[in-house]
Amino acid sequence: MGLDNTQKASLMSGGDFWHSQATSDLPAIMLTDGPHGIRKQAEGADALGLGDSVPATCFPPAVALGSSWDVELAERVGTALGAEARAAQVSVLLGPGVNIKRSPLCGRNFEYFSEDPVVSGHLGAAWVTGVQSHGVGTSVKHFAANNQETDRLRVSADVDERTLREIYLPAFEHIVRHANPTTIMCSYNKINGVYASENRWLLTELLRDEWGFDGLVVSDWGAVNDRVSALIAGLDLEMPPTGADSAILEALDSGGLHTATLDRAVDRVVALVERTRPLSDNGIDIDIEPVDVDAHHDLAREAAAASAVLLKNDDAVLPLADTSSIAVIGEFARTPRYQGAGSSQVVPTRLDAALDAITAIAPRVTFSPGFTLDSVPNPSLVSDAVSAAADAEVAVLFLGLPAEAESEGYDRPDIDLPADQLAILSAVHDVNPNVVVVLSNGGVVGVAGWQDQATAILEGWLLGQAGGRATAEILFGLTNPSGRLTETIPLTLQDNPSHLFFPGADQHVRYGEGIYVGYRYYDTLDRPVAYPFGFGLSYTTFAVADLEVQSSGINRVDVTAAVTNTGTRAGSEVVQVYVRDTHSRVDRPARELRAFDKVHLEPGESTTVTLTLDENAFRYWSPGHHRWAVDPGDVEIEVTIGSSDARLRATTSLDGDGVVDPLTAMSTLDEWFAHPVGSEVLAKVLSDSGARLDDQMRRLIGSMPIVKLASFGMGLSKDTLSEMLSAVAT
Ligand code: BGC
Repeated sequence: MGLDNTQKASLMSGGDFWHSQATSDLPAIMLTDGPHGIRKQAEGADALGLGDSVPATCFPPAVALGSSWDVELAERVGTALGAEARAAQVSVLLGPGVNIKRSPLCGRNFEYFSEDPVVSGHLGAAWVTGVQSHGVGTSVKHFAANNQETDRLRVSADVDERTLREIYLPAFEHIVRHANPTTIMCSYNKINGVYASENRWLLTELLRDEWGFDGLVVSDWGAVNDRVSALIAGLDLEMPPTGADSAILEALDSGGLHTATLDRAVDRVVALVERTRPLSDNGIDIDIEPVDVDAHHDLAREAAAASAVLLKNDDAVLPLADTSSIAVIGEFARTPRYQGAGSSQVVPTRLDAALDAITAIAPRVTFSPGFTLDSVPNPSLVSDAVSAAADAEVAVLFLGLPAEAESEGYDRPDIDLPADQLAILSAVHDVNPNVVVVLSNGGVVGVAGWQDQATAILEGWLLGQAGGRATAEILFGLTNPSGRLTETIPLTLQDNPSHLFFPGADQHVRYGEGIYVGYRYYDTLDRPVAYPFGFGLSYTTFAVADLEVQSSGINRVDVTAAVTNTGTRAGSEVVQVYVRDTHSRVDRPARELRAFDKVHLEPGESTTVTLTLDENAFRYWSPGHHRWAVDPGDVEIEVTIGSSDARLRATTSLDGDGVVDPLTAMSTLDEWFAHPVGSEVLAKVLSDSGARLDDQMRRLIGSMPIVKLASFGMGLSKDTLSEMLSAVAT
């Protein structure tokens, strides 16, 4: 393209807050949020970008879409978003957010899918595939270990490599390897003391050299601190611009920055623009199709209906009969909370309130707000609600977190519902035992303290612009709930494994719980929870049976099970496959999700689901050997479904990865015995010396390095040890 250094440096950051820099040969492209709708700033909006945006479909945020466990649906939502982005001339949609929900307190959990990397990675990849099918780019964020909002621009996430590799990075890796995202967005925080934006290990060695990423790395907005260091580390595009061109040019002059490094990043910016820019013919965009706003609203409703999770349904109080007299209580029924605050906030094309949808379905409905959204106590609202509940057959209470309780930018102090809402629940329950609670919240709320007062609980999360109608359809059984939890609901906040370490202090947060995040902790320690990961009820019943586990290659296993709809309504169920390695050399969680599938079945219908687990399902990161490892031997495969306690288990045997770690003088006696060559060498030495090791002695000295045994003269001379080491060296 024949650019001089000044032009090249200018391409290294945006032309403005939302656009890349244009040159005479290269148009600027727009990059904007995301993820659950297009937040395109209207002309003249505030620079911070939080002002009003052009209306766009507000699909369910990731907290909800994740709970659908439906990759096909996530791809369709992505495809619709891609179409809207294309129509709005947005070239890169800033999502998906695939950070792991480490703590329920993270203020931004509504923008993330799960506490589990497989759920996050699979849904994220489907979403990326959908968006990119329109030629629109994506930005997988926030890379990496951005699991809290507290001090997010400075905090160092101090986390060991095994935990990073097994928990916080796999969703990114899966998306890079399977969906080829155009960009990755580096996070604000530091990882083990190094800013993500300047982290060469993260942005180059891991992302590009190991995972094969060939797209562009963009900064989170304002995540660059030292532009030149960031460029050298592998960060290509700084957004928004901070006037760093001169620093780049000076570094080129002084030799602190190689031209080749700059050229590489320039090539990536050019490639991104070429790959994602709207096709233009004489200034007229030729690849824009008008958005079908109605169809997208319908899709938003379908996604919302697939995402709400039925937690409790005693006495089959749900679905409601449309002939019942119903007291709808709670301001959220009239004024829905349907998305979270911050950079992902979109202006919806329309908004369904549950109250309108309920009233359209059932004629005998009363409404009382019960509480105000600012939680100012109002006794007359309470007494109105209580008398309405007393007169009705069933009370449906819409409770939830006020908008300001959770947001990008800050974390929550607790997981409690507001006290005034709990007071209403209690007062209503006193006059009417048939209480259905519908929840609206982006982060998990505790239910243990009050759920006895609810006959049914529908966890509605934040369901996007069509969530009101989707909720009503679930309440009356027009849709069968099929969402399943992608995060554990703990009994108390204190039970959460990160509790002692969140959110850290003095600009450091230590991930002290290691790999034991979410259910990996609760299940391994057998701790009770309010509702477990993977759980969700249905209006029908499902059974799972006939588990078969068959090896289909080296460390590759086909898992087959039959699922049957044993009830009387059509419905969808999620088949979940977990792995438990009981013979690992290192500590492993009691179960880890490795594959899943959502199936739809008519009453009485059965289907066979086969899911293949490859080596990735069995590997762990060995910190000692600094590599992925698969141990040979037995592993347990467990298959569950969301709506029942059934757990099918089978055992299969793995070949292992065949990697034999070299023996040294500091290898233990047990390690010598376990080594294919070392064991023979050792056996010969022992028999030549006439030494006899009974079981007790073997246990006693098994963990001693062999050099120590030699120095104690325990049947081994130093010369013999040298010979042994030479024998195993070849
Ligand atoms: C957020 C990103 C967002 C960016 C642009 C940042 O504050 O962390 O998720 O994409 O702003 O709005």
